[in-house]
Amino acid sequence: MLADPYPKIETAHPVTDDIEVCVVGTGYGGLCAAARLVEAGIASSDIRLIDKAGDVGGTWYWNRYPGAMCDVESYVYMPLCEEIGYVPSMKYAQQPEIYKHSQMIMNHYGLYDKACFGAQVTGMEWEEDAGMWAITSSAGDAFRARYVVMNFGTFTQAKLPKVEGVASFEGEMFHTSRWNYDYTGSAANFPRFENALARSPERAVCCAGVTARATCTSSRTSASR
Ligand SMILES: Cc1cc2nc3c(=O)[nH]c(=O)nc-3n(C[C@H](O)[C@H](O)[C@H](O)COP(=O)(O)OP(=O)(O)OC[C@H]3O[C@@H](n4cnc5c(N)ncnc54)[C@H](O)[C@@H]3O)c2cc1C
Repeated sequence: MLADPYPKIETAHPVTDDIEVCVVGTGYGGLCAAARLVEAGIASSDIRLIDKAGDVGGTWYWNRYPGAMCDVESYVYMPLCEEIGYVPSMKYAQQPEIYKHSQMIMNHYGLYDKACFGAQVTGMEWEEDAGMWAITSSAGDAFRARYVVMNFGTFTQAKLPKVEGVASFEGEMFHTSRWNYDYTGSAANFPRFENALARSPERAVCCAGVTARATCTSSRTSASR
């Protein structure tokens, strides 16, 4: 249920080299750290961003539910706009724009070449003699970095609601950070999600949870709406 359902950027694995800096996590935090390092004179070829996601964006890679958008003004929320020459198109940008903006930061600073995606960091050990961190990942990577920047984020562990019977529910069920558009139709920047569902009257979506970031369950039978 928590597998990554989105199109991914394929990167070579396993990576086994030595690199100057490893940035774990490619949300806005990791992107800002990497960008500032490049501005400070570290070559982008000496920086590896690594993420379990299939591309950059962090929160905005994972959360693609209908209507996903920032609730802080884009001009304040979206970093490095002046540096990359970008003007947000909306006061509160939607997820596709924020995701694209994250990719623009990567391209602007030349950070894609050394990046690793689809790789969850599973281990990190300090090698005293070499003065390097030995880093391993779920994709079989085993490389070393002199410096590590940790940016795991705070909302990356999908939490399922404690609803009685949820484990035995037999309909389609997915978390909002793994939205199943194959099932619901529509798309993240499609303004009227309910119209897509209206075209499939046998389907209904029930959101369980107290915020928009809820788990959604759905059934093909009208009886269980
Ligand atoms: C649905 C949603 C909406 C939000 N809306 C707003 C908003 O409108 N305004 C606002 O100010 N904030 C908002 N936030 C908070 C948001 O998380 C932060 O604003 C910001 O995007 C966090 O950036 P980050 O880089 O710190 O972390 P994240 O964006 O969470 O990135 C962390 C990255 O680390 C990766 N990672 C984690 N563990 C590992 C590992 N072991 N190995 C490799 N990679 C790993 C994850 O895959 C992820 O890509 C929202 C959060 C959510 C979930």
